[in-house]
Amino acid sequence: MDYLPIFLDIREQPCLVVGGGAVAARKAAQLLRAGARVTVHAPALSAAFAADLDSSRVVHRAARFAEEDLSNHALVIAATDDAEVNRAVAAAAKARHVPVNVVDQPMLCSFIMPSIIDRSPVIVAVSSGGASPVLARLLRARLETLIPAGYGHLAALAAEFRDRIKARLAPAERRRFWERVLQGPIAELVFSGRQSEARQALGASLDDARLAISGGEVALVGAGPGDPDLLTFRALRLMQRADVVVYDRLVAEPILDLVRRDAERIYAGKARAEHTLPQEDINQLLVRLAKEGKRVVRLKGGDPFIFGRGGEEIDTLAAEGIPFQVVPGVTAAAGCASYAGIPLTHRDYAQSVVFVTGHLQDGSMNLNWPALVQPRQTIVFYMGLVGIDILCRELTAHGLPAATPAALVQQGTTPQQRVLTGTLASLPDIVHQNEVKAPTLIIIGEVVRLRERLKWFEPAA
Ligand code: SAH
Repeated sequence: MDYLPIFLDIREQPCLVVGGGAVAARKAAQLLRAGARVTVHAPALSAAFAADLDSSRVVHRAARFAEEDLSNHALVIAATDDAEVNRAVAAAAKARHVPVNVVDQPMLCSFIMPSIIDRSPVIVAVSSGGASPVLARLLRARLETLIPAGYGHLAALAAEFRDRIKARLAPAERRRFWERVLQGPIAELVFSGRQSEARQALGASLDDARLAISGGEVALVGAGPGDPDLLTFRALRLMQRADVVVYDRLVAEPILDLVRRDAERIYAGKARAEHTLPQEDINQLLVRLAKEGKRVVRLKGGDPFIFGRGGEEIDTLAAEGIPFQVVPGVTAAAGCASYAGIPLTHRDYAQSVVFVTGHLQDGSMNLNWPALVQPRQTIVFYMGLVGIDILCRELTAHGLPAATPAALVQQGTTPQQRVLTGTLASLPDIVHQNEVKAPTLIIIGEVVRLRERLKWFEPAA
């Protein structure tokens, strides 16, 4: 090891920053976050520095650095663009055994600052020992995605109960207890923002340790439109700790590949007309799996609350008193529009956008047509392919000009994405002539014209 990693308590300690630019400002801010009393030495402060810093907690000395300035300081950071000054600070600090960091000059430092992931009180620090700060930062970014934002709250909750649990359980039991709590349903409550429920559950499990582990849960998770990169951090984390995943036809294979290997996978179908499992059966299936104590992920294409029947599924869970959470996903309209280069709103073309289902019921489409054909509005049809003829006919009949630009986005955001453009009048023929297949999204409105200039995602066919 080239360095000893330590965490320094500098609360109320006087610390010195030499330099008045943007980097010095960042360092001073970091020291302040850790509770230090900061003095900044610089002939002048940059405007950003002066604006950013809370002057009640920072003293600015408008003077050049002199060796005596170091006395009684717990540490010093040099961040000037003057190599001479930086060297002088380092030499003076080392002579007085004051820990010193000179930004980007490991040779002059007695300590270096890591990249950090701050989930206070939990802090993860990453360092490459100065070999490659960029590498350390990349690693940090990867860790950020793995550690839920609520980790700090979880640690705080654990601290709150620590003494009581210590008094109640023997050391070996205690460790097992915490391992279960910190990766079980109680932790999940904290991560999804339900602190008081989590506190209650932890309190209850003090009396009956089995409570900390028993009980399944369901997460209704939006998997996005297809590109696995569009998953949320939370979706990925829940997929990787699931016991069982119940998924739809719309969930792309590369996304399923990200599910924990040992998890059971149940296909819930939903190809048009041949519903593999009727909705009622899916609702009951989720209830049964959760009651078996499993961590269930119900994975749905796009966003679960946009044409996803997510409401019906959690209604049943709620009625049965099963803990659940809902994780939003990128809905097809947002994903397809971005990947097709068609902004859904635009100051010159559309001030509103409506998401509509074009699903046929008994061969007809019962929609509020006058509301749809409003000027300067983009219309996005989900499930509109089968009813394309009716849809275009009705829009035209209700006053939308036949020349209105329109686009079809098939398998948007995936390597198989296909985008076809035309007008309201030509759309039905385009669908029939090009064998357009589901899943396809229909976008109608002047914004479609922008694709010509803004298209960027052109996967190799
Ligand atoms: N909950 C989903 C929508 C489910 S309805 C969401 O928020 O996206 C199913 C319809 O969504 C399909 O008929 C199609 O119109 C649209 N859709 C879903 N994924 C799509 C994709 N990758 N490309 C194009 N359309 C898609």
